[in-house]
Amino acid sequence: MSQETSKSTRRAIVDAARTVVIKVGTNALSREDDTLDVDRIASLCEQVHLVRESGRNVVVVSSGAIGAGIGLLKLKERPKDLPHLQAAAATGQAHLIRVYDDCFKKHGCHAAQVLLTANDFRHRSRYLNVRNTLTTLFEYGAVPIVNENDTVSVAEIKFGDNDQLAAMVANLFDGALLIILSVVDGLLDGHPSDPASRVIPLVREWDDSLGKLAAPVRSARGSGGMQSKLSAVRTATDVGHDVVIANGTRPNVIADLLAGEEVGTLFLAHPRKVPAWKRWIGYTVKPRGRLVIDEGARRAIVERGKSLLPVGIRSVEGHFSRGELVSLVDLQGIEVARGLCNYDARDTRLVAGKKRDDLAGTLGTETTEELIHRDNLVVLVQ
Ligand code: GLU
Repeated sequence: MSQETSKSTRRAIVDAARTVVIKVGTNALSREDDTLDVDRIASLCEQVHLVRESGRNVVVVSSGAIGAGIGLLKLKERPKDLPHLQAAAATGQAHLIRVYDDCFKKHGCHAAQVLLTANDFRHRSRYLNVRNTLTTLFEYGAVPIVNENDTVSVAEIKFGDNDQLAAMVANLFDGALLIILSVVDGLLDGHPSDPASRVIPLVREWDDSLGKLAAPVRSARGSGGMQSKLSAVRTATDVGHDVVIANGTRPNVIADLLAGEEVGTLFLAHPRKVPAWKRWIGYTVKPRGRLVIDEGARRAIVERGKSLLPVGIRSVEGHFSRGELVSLVDLQGIEVARGLCNYDARDTRLVAGKKRDDLAGTLGTETTEELIHRDNLVVLVQ
């Protein structure tokens, strides 16, 4: 692709994006001594202001709380256990948000602190509340600064890292552009230590071999690394978001990106349109169980767009209640779809493999024929 075409692709993407989610990593915000780099944050805020001036909504997903806490509390190293990490985050978050607020005030707006856990996205009502709050903040002209609520997050409810959190935030808004800023220039075509490695400017379509390009290294302060970035890219592009990974320490990085400059790596969104309800089912909620389905059911769902019927179920794993999310796995063990199950795990086991006429005799007259209705089902494979 010529440079001109790449530039016009980038410009078209930027022009189309009504909402921009900008994730900033700890290393892009901190100095060597673990204090916040206030000049860098000021520059990012100025660029965010320009994006807003262009009529777009912006959400910033900012790491840096734990790093700033380590600096403020003068800790010699990053704590290893949860309570100390949480205490560092609580200390650093207050400082982080104050710096953002001071910087945004110069542009006549406020920073609004939004702390979230993965559970906030898994419960439908909380998910909608998060979206409503962010939308109202846009109306007020305040800039949401999202971070994981580190003081209450424990291992099983952690997003894993803020890259994944940023993908989930982008998921709230149709066609949002996600920009992930860290201290790397983008996805390289070789190992980062190899001077011949170059940034890949454009990835048109996700391909599993891209994972091999992610050096398995984690930075000293942040918890991400290229692998976690690519996993967030996958989540976001799958449901229709374009994503850029770029270097947050590059002067004017956001402004240049929005001008269509070839900065960082641009990953194009998958062309299929996934409506918000299906984005939530397929990519935000965590499945509570697994249904192994036979070949007939797999084809009916994947190729013919049908609902899942009990007759196609081979086995049922896990404990789930009525209405909870389950994963549908084919006989090869490949996850082909996810959906909200009309029966709980016990009743699903009772009806598994049964034909329509036998169902009423199994559970009584109130049985619905579909185990998972098409409207509540998302196919994950082509
Ligand atoms: N929530 C953490 C913090 O603010 C960052 C997690 C991450 O970098 O992924 O320090």
